[in-house]
Amino acid sequence: MTVETWKPEETYEFGKKLGEGAAPGQVFCLNGDLGVGKTVFTQGFAAGLGISEPVNSPTFTIVQQYDGGRLPLYHFDVYRIGDVSEMDEIGYEDCFFGQGVCLIEWSGLIEEILPERVTEVTIEKDLEKGFDFRRIRVEERG
Ligand code: ADP
Ligand code: MG
Repeated sequence: MTVETWKPEETYEFGKKLGEGAAPGQVFCLNGDLGVGKTVFTQGFAAGLGISEPVNSPTFTIVQQYDGGRLPLYHFDVYRIGDVSEMDEIGYEDCFFGQGVCLIEWSGLIEEILPERVTEVTIEKDLEKGFDFRRIRVEERG
């Protein structure tokens, strides 16, 4: 599935729709350049799960857990990870293979430990279409 958005609110709404439909154990991999809208998508996704807490990129931790919604949400941002062993230290397996939903920004950096079955969300810009244009691709893998 491919969706095109022209402003942040549309990316938020698209994330919200996917959050509303998310099932326990689903892992969403978010990739795309810095500032492309992964966190905006995540904020909508969290709202779709019924989470009302503010969601920001976890800057000083790799993962932030939100329990206020229909399902627990584990929001990972692995941009600053040095080595995948840091994922072991935070007990990622309980998140990836639990009953909550995982959203992983920059999942490409931890490819070797990702579950076989994931939903890949790739966001890209196309400056010819304008500064706020984004193309969002959603693909089931595995
Ligand atoms: P990332 O998490 O991918 O680094 P963020 O979600 O933090 O990126 O930031 C995306 C930035 O791009 C925000 O400042 C947002 O307002 C802006 N933006 C402009 N157009 C869009 C769009 N169509 N979708 C999402 N974000 C957009
Ligand atoms: Mg981000």
